[in-house]
Formats: sequence, C-alpha cells, structure tokens
Amino acid sequence: MATPLLLHACCGPCSLEPLRLLKEDGFAPTICWTNPNIQPVAEHDLRLRTLQTWAQDVAHVPVVVAGDDRAAWERGVAPAAFDRERRCRACYALRLAEACRVAKDLGFGHISTTLAVSPYQLFDVCCELLVSLARANGLEPVVRDYRPYYPQATRESRELGMYRQNYCGCRFSAAEATIERHEARDARKRAKREKARQRHANG
Ligand code: SF4
Repeated sequence: MATPLLLHACCGPCSLEPLRLLKEDGFAPTICWTNPNIQPVAEHDLRLRTLQTWAQDVAHVPVVVAGDDRAAWERGVAPAAFDRERRCRACYALRLAEACRVAKDLGFGHISTTLAVSPYQLFDVCCELLVSLARANGLEPVVRDYRPYYPQATRESRELGMYRQNYCGCRFSAAEATIERHEARDARKRAKREKARQRHANG
C-alpha cells in the first residue's frame, strides 16, 4: 500500500515532476498549499487556482489549503529585503513549518516539498530546513533532488497550458528578476554590436 505523504507545493508547474516521482517511489501524496510569500495577492490567487485546477482535473490529487500568514511573512522575512540567502531561508522556514504543522495535525508521517525542483531556489538551504523542521515535528523528511527534472516540468506545464510565473514570489524576487532580464537583454545587445563591429572590421 502507498505511504501517505504531505507535499508542500509552491505552485502548479513545480508540482508536476515531484508528484510523479513520489508516486513512482510508493508514496500517496496530498498537496499542501502554504505560500504567504506570493505578492501581489492577485498573483497568489492565480497560482493557487492554477494548482487546484491541475490537481483536480489532471492529477486527481487532493489539495489542502493551509495558513497563508502574510503578516508573519512581513514580520519575519521582509526585513531581510535584498539579502537573498537570509530572506529565502526565513521564507522557506515559515512555509515548511506550516506544512509540518498541517502534516502532524492530519496524521501524515512523511513530508516533502516541490521547492527542490527549481534550479532558482537555494537547494541546500531548503533541504536543511525540511529535515530539521520535519524531525522537530516527528515527521520523516523525504528529500529528493528534483532539479534534473525541471526542463521536463517546464515543457509539460507549457503543453498543459498552465500559468507560469517569471519570478519566485515576493516583491524582492520580482525586482531581482526584472534586473536580471534587463542585464541579459543588454548583454545580448552588446554581443550583437560586437559581432557587427567585427564583421565591419573584417571588411
Ligand atoms: S525569492 Fe522566493 S523563496 Fe526567496 S523570499 Fe522571495 S518568495 Fe521567498
């Protein structure tokens, strides 16, 4: 018989591959949503709806909507602002602690998180927190490196027509992603200009 497991999910697209792999490993996942980090609220609601629609219509997996304590996020995470490691550590801890609380309350013995699929997350920090918070709550952490499956998850979520966000979630990550996109665009322009200059120089 499959082993019940509570899977903290950060969004729909990042849930595809962890769900498939956990099932292959003999787990029966229930998804847990607790993401008070996502700003603005309309974006939060869109990501939650995307996850719920896919879970209900495609994956046929239950979704528990847990606490989304936005005030706690502002108090405990926002002060780190653009100190990314400190900020994300506090953000993971808040969400995973809530997921562990729910797992314990609902009688799950195992817990995992989809945060371990995105190469943009701080994988080691996330795994360290999953292990320590799970153990503190008497749960078994299921730690997997899902990152090699990220390209597949990207492809599949596009094929399914799922909404795909272009920043992690908080306002700081939105600003960082905008800067990175501008830097990448400027680098492409510079490379193009350099190529044209070389062509011109070579006659
Ligand atoms: S970048 Fe993502 S994980 Fe880090 S604080 Fe912002 S929402 Fe949380």
